[in-house]
Amino acid sequence: MNRILRNVRAKRKVLVVEDERINREILGNILAQDYEVICAENGQEAVDILREEADSVSLILLDLMMPVMNGEEVLRICREDRALSRIPVIVITQDEDAEVSSIRGGADDFIKKPYNMPEVILARCERIIDLYEKKELIDSAETDPLTGLYTRDFFFEYIRQIEKYSDAEMDAIVMDIEHFHLINEIHGHSEGDQILRKIASTITEELGENYGIACRSAADTFYIYCADVSEGGAIADRILKEMSGVSFQSAKIRLRVGINKHVNRLDPPEQWFDHAKLACDGLRGDYTHQVAYYDSAAHDRQLYHERLIRDMDRSIEHKDFVVFFQPKYGIDGDKPVLRSAEALIRWKHPELGMISPGDFIPLFEGNGLIQKLDRYVWEEAALKIAHWKDRFGVAVPVSVNVSRIDIFDPNLEDRLLGILKKNGLTTKDLLLEITESAYSDSADRLIEVVNNLRDRGFRIEMDDFGSGYSSLNMLTTIPIDVLKMDMKFVRNMLKDEKSLKLCELVMDISRFLDVPVVAEGVEEQAQLDILKSMGCQIIQGYYFSKPLPADQFEELLERSADLSAKNF
Ligand code: C2E
Ligand code: MG
Ligand code: MG
Repeated sequence: MNRILRNVRAKRKVLVVEDERINREILGNILAQDYEVICAENGQEAVDILREEADSVSLILLDLMMPVMNGEEVLRICREDRALSRIPVIVITQDEDAEVSSIRGGADDFIKKPYNMPEVILARCERIIDLYEKKELIDSAETDPLTGLYTRDFFFEYIRQIEKYSDAEMDAIVMDIEHFHLINEIHGHSEGDQILRKIASTITEELGENYGIACRSAADTFYIYCADVSEGGAIADRILKEMSGVSFQSAKIRLRVGINKHVNRLDPPEQWFDHAKLACDGLRGDYTHQVAYYDSAAHDRQLYHERLIRDMDRSIEHKDFVVFFQPKYGIDGDKPVLRSAEALIRWKHPELGMISPGDFIPLFEGNGLIQKLDRYVWEEAALKIAHWKDRFGVAVPVSVNVSRIDIFDPNLEDRLLGILKKNGLTTKDLLLEITESAYSDSADRLIEVVNNLRDRGFRIEMDDFGSGYSSLNMLTTIPIDVLKMDMKFVRNMLKDEKSLKLCELVMDISRFLDVPVVAEGVEEQAQLDILKSMGCQIIQGYYFSKPLPADQFEELLERSADLSAKNF
């Protein structure tokens, strides 16, 4: 390769450093056949030339004994300087003892004075230049030109090699810059580059003491591996501390760190770092923590959630989502009377089995998928109500849950009315439950939507009342028809005085607003008795019944005496 390059490229430049003129000339003449030769008369002159021309010099021929600065000192300077250390050095010597010490000092080869074998000298020069150029080619593939850290591929290759000899406990560390693209956009790419270089040099310094290696895996993502250090957290802390003291012209930077503690050495190294990166990504937008540890349970949860999101559409198509009905009983008379029901969704997943709404409702609320699911429930519930109306002549009103995201659907009203119309139902047949926290989130919009719905004849229940932060002032302006007391008050009313007082408070508020209260989560007679004595009119809870599949709820309707006469 080198021979070909030699023909197409200009001659390589060789620096001869020698204080004796005659020697300089002899050597210069020998080298001039193949190289462009420049000379220095002492060490200091050589260093000055090198600082100017480091990039273009391919080889240094260095005498050891010189005035001003000797050859050993030049060698030391070259080896400590990153730009100069890429130039090979051949020491010129008369003294055999000096050979060993100069090779130890970083020389690559030596040539003996006097110069009586020109061919040998040329051959040695060529070989050394060749070796260095090949090494440089490899270096450029293995390191990132911007930061000098390893490239990702070489990083993992080296880990595999080191791992053959290592079995100590080890943490994988991933480091990343919050909003790095913004720094680039706002402050310019050169500022961005400067930041990346500073982080890389800080990491390198820290690793120097721990024999670790690092790479820049992507634009602003750094991977750190220390085979013998189990305290990844301490390494990360030191790097963060060092970086916190650094300021860049105008950019404020914030680093995040993900650590996969005690990696499982049976897994491939890429996976150790994928997991550390997951922890790191989890910190996005979290301004209270800079370091997060990978947690396999959290990871499993994330995978599970991704699976649920992936499977939702198919499950809707296949009707794997099933609507259950939980009866609500009026308790204001002598005997409890079935008044209405709440439609509650269940997911009979074909592979994962029964999944509770607590596992997927908050997930789908978070990403907007809930809208699709809610519509499905409304339609399924409407179908059943119509069927029962057909069969029994009267229909129990069924309440459905309306998520806060539905409130922002401009077609909400039309959608609901469309479903009713399709099934021959009216707004009296379908009650709407809206959770209290939706009211406090977006009060104005909600009040407007709810007012419109009520104008069309819908009745609105405020769900989970007491769990949100409605102000008393807001409650007076809010249009609602029923309060559903948050279940935790009922759950604790027999256990602590405070919950009992809160139940009373909700009852007072309902009297003030002149609306009935539904108490959810009633499981025991004692709870029912107290609620009844407080004036609560409607109960929903396991005491009467768990949520039932449609056919069992239908049996319940059938058993309910004198159904046709009942005024729902
Ligand atoms: P929620 O709307 O407040 O529904 C009441 C929850 O309390 C139901 O849980 C019901 O099974 C449970 N429950 C009723 N009585 C008792 C009792 O005596 N003891 C106990 N321990 N629990 C009782 P579920 O079905 O697991 O639903 C949980 C939540 O998921 C619901 O709370 C609702 O917020 C949401 N959800 C359920 N179905 C849907 C739906 O179709 N759409 C939307 N957006 N949310 C739904
Ligand atoms: Mg509800
Ligand atoms: Mg509720």
